[in-house]
Amino acid sequence: MTAPAAADAPRVLADIALEIDPDEILRFQGYKRGVDVPGPEVQALVDEALALGRRLIEPRAVVHWVAVTRREGDTLEAGGVALTVPGIERAWGPVAELAAAVCTIGDPLERRGAELWEARELPLAVMLDSVGSGAVESLAEYVNDVLCQEGIARGLKVTNRISPGYGAWDVAQQRELFRLCPGDSIGVRLNESCFMTPVKSISLLAGAGVTARVDHYFSQCARCWMRDCAYRRVPAQKTVHR
Ligand code: SF4
Repeated sequence: MTAPAAADAPRVLADIALEIDPDEILRFQGYKRGVDVPGPEVQALVDEALALGRRLIEPRAVVHWVAVTRREGDTLEAGGVALTVPGIERAWGPVAELAAAVCTIGDPLERRGAELWEARELPLAVMLDSVGSGAVESLAEYVNDVLCQEGIARGLKVTNRISPGYGAWDVAQQRELFRLCPGDSIGVRLNESCFMTPVKSISLLAGAGVTARVDHYFSQCARCWMRDCAYRRVPAQKTVHR
């Protein structure tokens, strides 16, 4: 694996072999993992929507590693951009680099969903929307795995991802994140309200450092496909890599 150093230009990930995690689809349908089991009719609908979704998704991602130039409390400065994420100093500890990323499954699935609504095929339309949400979550996991693998190749621990608008991180910082990692190379745009189009897109940030704190919350390994990783914390249960 190539292990790009910080300050490289944003880089589009090629050949993303994404596998959609069916558990993610059910989660968007309100099912609790390991507790709720879908009945045969729901499962048939999941299978139909998943088969359709697999044909429609166009997974793309762009990532940018940048060196941290200043750390002050919960503010991290990198690439001329200041990001303030409440609680990040305690959660991540001393990170020397940031990896910003934007990922999307494109808009063909969204367009097909709109057609299904028009045709009043509502159960399939709703399930297809959940397939799209599950797909882009799986893609964000995939990208986080790639970042961890790249960091490890350079002797760095990589944290779990965070996104503007989740938890206490102000969604308005989406603009700063896009300054670090513009989405235009993969067709993702940001509007005035900091919403992305295509809708099924996720922007994310991970930290990296020799002594970055990861052990107390790190869950990435459970879906990572890197065999024989010396740093694996839990066994792989499944993977989002085909
Ligand atoms: S197995 Fe875990 S530590 Fe190793 S690269 Fe994958 S996510 Fe990172």
